[in-house]
Amino acid sequence: MTSNEVREKYLKFFISAPRMHREIAPAPLVLEGDPTTLFTSSGMQPLIPYFKGEKHSKGKRLVDSQPSLRLQDIEEVGDNRHETFFEMLGNWSLGDYFKKEQIPWIFEFFTKELGLSKERLWVSVFEGNKDVPKDTETFEIWKSLGIPEERIVYYGVEKNWWSRSGSPNEMPVGEIGGPDSEIFFDFGTKHDPKYGEKCHPNCDCGRFLEIGNSVYIEYEKKEDGSLKELPQKNVDFGGGLERITMAVNNLQDVFQIDIYKPIISKIEKAVGKKYEDNKKAFRIIADHIRASEALTCEGIIPSNKLQGYILRRLIRRAALKMRQLGVSVTDLDISEVVGSEIGKFEKIIENGTNLAKNPNIKPFDLYQSYGIPLEITEEIFAESARKITSADRKEFEEEFSKHKESSRKASAGMFKGGLADSSEEVTKLHTATHLLHASLRKVLGEGVSQKGSNITSERLRFDFSHPQKLTGEELTKVEDLINLQIEKKLPVSFEVVSLDEAVKSGALHFFAEKYGEEVKVYTIEDFSREVCGGPHIKNTSEIGHVKIIKQEKVGSGLLRIYAKLG
Ligand code: ATP
Ligand code: MG
Repeated sequence: MTSNEVREKYLKFFISAPRMHREIAPAPLVLEGDPTTLFTSSGMQPLIPYFKGEKHSKGKRLVDSQPSLRLQDIEEVGDNRHETFFEMLGNWSLGDYFKKEQIPWIFEFFTKELGLSKERLWVSVFEGNKDVPKDTETFEIWKSLGIPEERIVYYGVEKNWWSRSGSPNEMPVGEIGGPDSEIFFDFGTKHDPKYGEKCHPNCDCGRFLEIGNSVYIEYEKKEDGSLKELPQKNVDFGGGLERITMAVNNLQDVFQIDIYKPIISKIEKAVGKKYEDNKKAFRIIADHIRASEALTCEGIIPSNKLQGYILRRLIRRAALKMRQLGVSVTDLDISEVVGSEIGKFEKIIENGTNLAKNPNIKPFDLYQSYGIPLEITEEIFAESARKITSADRKEFEEEFSKHKESSRKASAGMFKGGLADSSEEVTKLHTATHLLHASLRKVLGEGVSQKGSNITSERLRFDFSHPQKLTGEELTKVEDLINLQIEKKLPVSFEVVSLDEAVKSGALHFFAEKYGEEVKVYTIEDFSREVCGGPHIKNTSEIGHVKIIKQEKVGSGLLRIYAKLG
């Protein structure tokens, strides 16, 4: 069965009766309005507000296939089952059905629709801790479906508790989470004692493959440190499309499935070596090139900042592996963006070779300024008959681990501190954007239309059509008009209607083709009416004050305004 067939079967199964899910469009790999994370790393990430009670325009049962990128797994790439970029099949109950419907459904999907043998399935359940009881309900449901007790394994918070920040203890106030139940496919291979005395579903020896995880999001962390049940119980299922395709085809290697076959054989041709003999390097190249192409397709270009930097790292890592195998990645079939980044990297290495002629240059200097890893520096040094000494190596390792720790902290902070601290700011700026849009139209005329927007916790950015820059007077007028609506303490409300009705009622809409047939229309009294997914604050007074900080002309007839709170 191909991966496309698996995806189609999955969507069809959950859309059909009695499951009756509605398909939602996958989110982009870089989430708008969420400055706290670099990439979408699961299907549930864009849905967080809806677990807490926000209403979704497509209802309470949703399904999709979400392209995901997990940088935190980059070091795992090279084993038989981890990718940085993968597709996650997801389905959700937003306060609708719960375990006793969901577990039999996902079981039916795996065994009947995909034909996985029941004997090959193992599951894990949450063993409980001081805050949350043992999940015996899930255990019993699996048992009633014919999974024998020996194949239902209890694990603690490290394995079977989900929240964005980790265990219940680590969750900040306001964060949601719950116990989960993972499904594993058993390849039945022999255990490798290198990975521990006994084999078990979460063992890394390769016998078991996690093909899906059902999270029961039903708790919220309270001020007093306790976990309280959410007003609604949610289900969040996620399963890797590539991994499910592995199980269906009984292939114990994700890089052998249809998606990777052509890439692997191209590398074999370019390198003149066999995959079998160079698995780790081939896997890294195949994964990183595929991830890079996915990022490039979404308009990201290599740079020294944020997503662009990650893209650059992925491309360079792939290029490096190819170099070690003796060829250039440009020998593969790749896009212009990726190809020219490789060209740049090869130049850097050439420059590094020149720099290395200076005896004062240390290996870590080459790494820090040019991103040249130690093994390449070794080659470069060899060309000028220079050797890497053990002192060089020690210094490199020390500096490198310092550097790694600070970037790890930076990215952990970005994810963790993130949404909890800043979502309020972001929500306010979302509503402020609607006020700005409406104010611009009132001051400059109906010719103004939105061309783009981007929100971080610090500021909003709004692109719109207008022939020339605004005068100082116009800018003041716009800013005053926004703040007047804030002073008026206007309620912000929404309704769910069809896109047709929304347009007929005069609601502004931007990129209508991105919306489903039913949309949310946010209204700020009679000042603004706009199609938008939300979330928004409840009253304009919560915004406080808005200040326009900059305007720019970014194209012909295209202006950009930056504004912030306070
Ligand atoms: P693992 O322990 O194998 O790294 P996980 O527990 O991190 O997986 P979840 O966060 O539960 O995974 O994600 C849901 C599903 O997505 C997993 O059951 C798996 O099928 C898939 N998945 C997760 N990470 C990856 C990855 N790096 N590559 C491929 N598939 C993945
Ligand atoms: Mg998991």
